[in-house]
Amino acid sequence: MDLRCTQCSQAATGALCTACGGLTEFVLGPIRLDPAGYKHLVASRRGATGALAQSGVWRFLELLPPLAARDVVTLGENNVPLYESARGARYAGVDRLSYLHLGMNPTGSFKDAGMTVAVSAAKAAGARAVVCASTGNTASSMAAYAARAGLVALVAVPAGGVSRAKLAQMRDYGACIVPVEGSFDLAMERVRALAREDVAVVNSLNPYRIEGQKCAAFRLLEERGWEPPDWVVLPGGNLGNASAFGKGFREALALGFIDRLPRLAVAQASGAAPFVRAYEGAEELVPVDARTAAGAIAIGAPVSWRKARRELAAVNGAAVAVSDEAIALAKAAIGREGIGCEPASAAALAGARALREAARLRREDDVVVVLTGHALKDGEFAQRFEQVTQRAWDDEQERELRSLLQGERAPAI
Ligand SMILES: *Cc1c(COP(=O)(O)O)cnc(C)c1O
Ligand SMILES: [Zn+2]
Repeated sequence: MDLRCTQCSQAATGALCTACGGLTEFVLGPIRLDPAGYKHLVASRRGATGALAQSGVWRFLELLPPLAARDVVTLGENNVPLYESARGARYAGVDRLSYLHLGMNPTGSFKDAGMTVAVSAAKAAGARAVVCASTGNTASSMAAYAARAGLVALVAVPAGGVSRAKLAQMRDYGACIVPVEGSFDLAMERVRALAREDVAVVNSLNPYRIEGQKCAAFRLLEERGWEPPDWVVLPGGNLGNASAFGKGFREALALGFIDRLPRLAVAQASGAAPFVRAYEGAEELVPVDARTAAGAIAIGAPVSWRKARRELAAVNGAAVAVSDEAIALAKAAIGREGIGCEPASAAALAGARALREAARLRREDDVVVVLTGHALKDGEFAQRFEQVTQRAWDDEQERELRSLLQGERAPAI
């Protein structure tokens, strides 16, 4: 597997192209796999014992950058559920909708699928420490995998911009946390300046991250019997995940695992939607000062926006902005079905609904909404939007029961 620049195609050795500064990516070599045989092999690994077979990333190891088994650091990631959702379908106005719940990963977010590969690669390369800038989930995930690997974990977080649950989680895994007075984007700048031989930067510009995360696309297809949906809708922050899904589906098509590509849609919070503007206007991305209560997508200068634009354009995809209130309402709809997710994830359902209203999605479309994080990741949001959520929940029966619980007299019949 070769590393190449995504902009000028030159062979590369690191995360950035030395010729043009573009992001690099791994290119799958001319491997010959019998599609039916490979699907069968992957299914048999799923039922087998052993840490590699039990990982929803490493059971696709033929499609990953080569690493020695002794260097693999895994927590059994990416074995996530796909939930059919009648309520979500009604909410978005389509016939069929399901949730791929990547929040059901070991540390509660999709970051684990990429982190297992990035930390394994760092360990194999002899790194002493791993470092990232993070709004919380990248850091929690990195800290857990670094602890498993016996590496030092160094985290730069925007001061005041990370939920308490996420901070507690990274502390638990023993990370060294450095608050940066400023935005995520400033923290990212600081971290990029720190890259050295023995210190690996594991933000999503790290091409190993994308290789792990593309396995979420394989996981989705696997769970659907390798039948692609019409649309996959996901939230966008730095846009590494959108890039990874696009790459995963492209490779699945090239390998003959599927016969058509699903279309991709990215939802951003309207206070942090630089990609939506750039994609719709086919322009250069203009960074913004990110403002949204959905912390995981509060990013104003997305690192992977060019990669994501290429992936979306290849499938005639869509990008859409949704308000924080729309996110809160969508989150309530997801929670009401016993599923739950963190706020940033709910932007995807809000986005599906908005795209249906704009007639980009058709009623008969089969839609997969990607839930990126776990419901317990962000208690502050739930509190802040309690009123909005309450409105979504309100109905007469509940009002009556509530007043009884509160000790009020039942209304006379
Ligand atoms: C990281 C993250 C995102 C954003 O993903 P990108 O790859 O940065 O676009 C969305 N939701 C959650 C829960 C996340 O942790
Ligand atoms: Zn280049």
